[in-house]
Amino acid sequence: MKFTVNQDLCIGCEACEGICPEIFEVPNDVSKVKLNPVPETLQANALAAEEGCPVSAISHEQ
Ligand code: SF4
Repeated sequence: MKFTVNQDLCIGCEACEGICPEIFEVPNDVSKVKLNPVPETLQANALAAEEGCPVSAISHEQ
């Protein structure tokens, strides 16, 4: 499963990093994905981060 952050939508709130710091980090006011594809053991957490993004900037594909 591969995750993407829409850089134009992200507001740098750091919610994704708070939920799943293994995959998301927000170094310069924009979130980036640290590891793609996301290992199976972290997928549920990454999906929770996607769900928790207030501006729906995170998406994924299989
Ligand atoms: S939760 Fe969404 S808006 Fe907030 S930093 Fe992460 S990708 Fe950006």
